[in-house]
Amino acid sequence: MPSHRTLRLFSAIVVSLVVATTVRPRPERDLAPTPDTACRACGWELGEPAWSCTGPHFVVCDCCGAESGVDDLTPTQARDYRRRWVENGAVWFDPERRPESWDLYAQLSTLPDTGA
Ligand SMILES: [Zn+2]
Repeated sequence: MPSHRTLRLFSAIVVSLVVATTVRPRPERDLAPTPDTACRACGWELGEPAWSCTGPHFVVCDCCGAESGVDDLTPTQARDYRRRWVENGAVWFDPERRPESWDLYAQLSTLPDTGA
C-alpha cells in the first residue's frame, strides 16, 4: 500500500503534467500585415483597412491595382486577379510607390492562401 506522501507526490506530478500539456503560451504576434490592411490579391500593406465589418472600403492597391470590394470579393476572385497580375509581369499600379528592395515572392508568401 503506497504511503500518503507517495500518493500526494504522484498526484502533484499528474497535475503538473496535465497543466504542462494543456496550458500553452500564446503564439507570438505575427508581424505580417493583418488581413484587414493587406491587399487580398497581392499582400501589399495598403496602410488603411481594405475591409471592415461594414464591408469593403474600395481601396486601390498601389502594387497590383486590385480594388477592395471589386477584385477581391471572394478568395477565388482574389487568387484569379493575382494569377493574372503575376502572369502579366507583376507590374506595379503605381511604380513610384515600389520599394527598391521589393520582393514579389516574399510579399506573396505573406498571403494566407498561397503559402511560402
Ligand atoms: Zn495588391
